[in-house]
Amino acid sequence: MEKYLLLHYGEIGLKKSNKDYFVKKLQRFLKLKLDRNFKGNFVVRHSLGRLTVKLPEKIDINKYVDVVEKVFGVRNFKFVLEGSTDLKKLAGQIWDNMPKFEQKPANFVVRCKRSMVLPFHSVDAERELGALLLDEGLGLPVKLKNAELTIDVEFFNNHGFFSFKKYDGAGGLSVNSQGKLVSLISSGIDSPVASYLMMRRGARIIFTHFHGYPYTDKDEMAQVKQLVKILSGYQQHTKLYLLPFGQVQKAIATNLDIPGKIRTVLYRRMMVRIAEKIARQEKARGLVTGDSLGQVASQTSENMFAIHDASTIPLFQPLIGFDKEETVKLAEKIGTFEISKLPCKDSCTMFMPRKPELRANVYDVRRYEENLDVEKWVEKVVDEAEVILL
Ligand code: ATP
Ligand code: MG
Repeated sequence: MEKYLLLHYGEIGLKKSNKDYFVKKLQRFLKLKLDRNFKGNFVVRHSLGRLTVKLPEKIDINKYVDVVEKVFGVRNFKFVLEGSTDLKKLAGQIWDNMPKFEQKPANFVVRCKRSMVLPFHSVDAERELGALLLDEGLGLPVKLKNAELTIDVEFFNNHGFFSFKKYDGAGGLSVNSQGKLVSLISSGIDSPVASYLMMRRGARIIFTHFHGYPYTDKDEMAQVKQLVKILSGYQQHTKLYLLPFGQVQKAIATNLDIPGKIRTVLYRRMMVRIAEKIARQEKARGLVTGDSLGQVASQTSENMFAIHDASTIPLFQPLIGFDKEETVKLAEKIGTFEISKLPCKDSCTMFMPRKPELRANVYDVRRYEENLDVEKWVEKVVDEAEVILL
């Protein structure tokens, strides 16, 4: 009996004339991930609002789940067997392929969907298959809502494709369907999640990290590389710029004409400018940061105003309305939390003022900045970038 991976897409299905664009991107990326991870030449077909992929006979399902779970655009997926459209035959096939449960489920339900002409309705098929399975010897009561075992059947392409488990997909839009964005990523909890959320909406993320080396050790950079490695599983080509920022912080911190408390805002303005320069080089259309309104000193609305003032391209901040708890939950789900929570000296803490300004005035900030050769520093840091491909 043939085995398939069957996927349903989510929001892409709502697209009208440009649905094909999104479906093609999804097909291409899924094929790439499968080919690369399982050394094959997989064919991803699109038919009647679903994607199907014929699978080899023997597969390690968990490995496939790990890969498919990271493909954006997918609402859910399952591993199905190609059964008959004859309900009697189909019930026999389902029964013969029933998984060996470690713990027997307490109840079951049959769910059918059809996208082909058949002499019965889906609800009739559900009832009949349920009864036939009970005849076969499935000694379980039927439970219509929240059953422990759902036997799922989809009738299309002249077959009844059945499965016993459905997996949640990653949601969002197809990878690389929205062009490039440059993300500012630290070793903290928030920015990896922010990058993930923008990738989920179809952006291809180019990562930039500002480090304090040689004023700090290389731990932070190593941590960021690990984070970017995890996130790189969600897209095709991943680039990380490591930018030597300690020299800029030192220049600001040692400038006697710049008050200590305003430094944080100036650091961030410089980061934004440097990231913007990289965005222009990379033909990216905006920046991404992990800010959440009011979370720390640099994220008051006044300070954000003063920071955004340094950028002439859009700044996307998907966590702006998130509580920390919500961000942590997502970080745990993605797998970045375990790395982000490790303590390490980040480049910003080193030249940090004891009491940062909470309500920077943008005109003052611009005035203080005149004491710096902004252009020179932007050029220098970009010139000295180390670029890593993952
Ligand atoms: P995070 O957990 O992402 O570090 P945070 O709550 O610590 O965020 P800040 O340190 O104020 O907040 O940083 C705000 C945002 O600025 C970060 O989410 C990130 O996008 C960017 N950022 C901060 N430090 C760096 C850095 N060293 N390199 C690149 N981006 C940075
Ligand atoms: Mg931080």
